[in-house]
Amino acid sequence: MCEQIVLDLTSIIANPNKEFAVSVQFAPEDSLVDYPQCGFDGKARFEGFACFVDSEVELYGKIKFALRGVCDRCCKPTSTEYVVPFDEVFYPSAEEFDDYVYEGSKLDATKAFYDAISLSLPISFLCKEDCKGLCPRCGKDRNEGDCQCNVPKNNYFSNIYTTK
Ligand SMILES: [Zn+2]
Ligand SMILES: [Zn+2]
Repeated sequence: MCEQIVLDLTSIIANPNKEFAVSVQFAPEDSLVDYPQCGFDGKARFEGFACFVDSEVELYGKIKFALRGVCDRCCKPTSTEYVVPFDEVFYPSAEEFDDYVYEGSKLDATKAFYDAISLSLPISFLCKEDCKGLCPRCGKDRNEGDCQCNVPKNNYFSNIYTTK
């Protein structure tokens, strides 16, 4: 079951053009993540502000979460943290099919947060952005240094041509 993230707008609507700090923790569904054997490591957290302007609610800040899984390049179990910028407007009624809406004094941010998370995830799950992965020959983790089979090509050719 998907946990609903509902914000109470009562005091926000009563004070237009005023920024209210919003901090909300939620447990996202692992189905958001397409990587094999990968899921959320603990809860996600939104931290930011809400503001009521001209009958619209602006919600902006950052979503922080971590994913736990196996690195696609070096195959190590790892937990990687992500910070996703969030900036959306919620309307009193939907004019376009993909508009986010609020109802009365309640704003359900579940879909908006989930959209922001799923759109931000990179194509592959990595322990770090510049993970060097494993040597395809000997399997050594290249993050820990070069392996023996990593002989520069120049030497290989110069050996052939200088041998008498
Ligand atoms: Zn890695
Ligand atoms: Zn190697």
